[in-house]
Amino acid sequence: MGDFMHTREELQHLQSLPLADKIRLTRERIREWVDAWNGRVYVSFSGGKDSTALLHMVRELYRDVPAVFSNTGLEFPEVRKFALSQPNVTEIRPEMTFVEVVTTEGYPLISKSVANAIKYARRPDPEGRLRRYMTGNVLVPLRDGTMGRSMFDKSRWQKLAEEAPFRISDKCCRIMKKRPMKQYERDSGRHGIVGTMAREGRLRERAWLQHGCNAYDTPHGLSTPLAFWTEQDMLEYIARMGIEIAPVYGEIECIRKSCHSCRYATTGADRTGCVFCCFGAHVEKRGRFVSLRESHPALYRYCMEGGQWIPNPDYDPDLPKYAEDGFKNWNPERLWVPSPEGLGMGFVLDTVNTLYGRVLIPG
Ligand code: SF4
Repeated sequence: MGDFMHTREELQHLQSLPLADKIRLTRERIREWVDAWNGRVYVSFSGGKDSTALLHMVRELYRDVPAVFSNTGLEFPEVRKFALSQPNVTEIRPEMTFVEVVTTEGYPLISKSVANAIKYARRPDPEGRLRRYMTGNVLVPLRDGTMGRSMFDKSRWQKLAEEAPFRISDKCCRIMKKRPMKQYERDSGRHGIVGTMAREGRLRERAWLQHGCNAYDTPHGLSTPLAFWTEQDMLEYIARMGIEIAPVYGEIECIRKSCHSCRYATTGADRTGCVFCCFGAHVEKRGRFVSLRESHPALYRYCMEGGQWIPNPDYDPDLPKYAEDGFKNWNPERLWVPSPEGLGMGFVLDTVNTLYGRVLIPG
């Protein structure tokens, strides 16, 4: 496992434990974290149900731990209102707006790792070194001992990288969420606790495999004491403890009862992350933008409508159409960006869906 301190088997074992054991282990991790920093900690609080559950657990043990809410302007209005209504919440803000981030860096599309690969694949790169992960030219040893394509192979998205006339980037989270939190950490000397789970994505799973729940060995440290929880654990914990969550979720109900199992679900929204984010939208069954159209029509219109063409400052009329490795150089004359009327996401989704010949992201 290289530089990993844990194995996937360990993670699977923790994920399979009963909720009571998970609560006990999570409390231990929180106590260790608070002790390690002499109480100089804070909870990263988005107003979503996971961080609400985390805040509840932390404050059961340490009443005065502050919660920090990064007001990005991307939250559902009900979630922002709920977050700011909680006691001892510090509000921080990013230096840029989402429109500025999308205009200068690009739309957050598909996933962080794909957006990152696209950003690098599009840079001038005669040797094609930056494109290896995008074009699938990376062979790694597989579990069965043979060599095969890396799990980071993104060749499926090469077409998007080559053809889409808008910037795509993974930088949004860093600018809108991470930087303001890091600034808060520097100013306050506190160390963060976040409610993320390894199940939420490869990068989060990888972070747990590398550092465990309490990452003391990263520049400012980070605690993820719910890393081995599942969505069902979270819903069950909130329901059992009677924790108040943002009203946009509705109620938490048990939708399947048998002798041994109960499956929980929210009666309202099941996702309350950034309203306009496209990360992960291509793997959803119903589609977040379809739900947004029904629940928040004005926000939906702002998201889908608008958009404008601007000249591409990096356009090079002399650049050959294809690089030596066969990659089509990304060199559009004009770029699609948000306008005062809206984010222009309708055009972005149409482009993706047309390139892939089916509705990949419903809108
Ligand atoms: S979740 Fe999406 S929209 Fe929100 S900050 Fe991260 S990339 Fe931006």
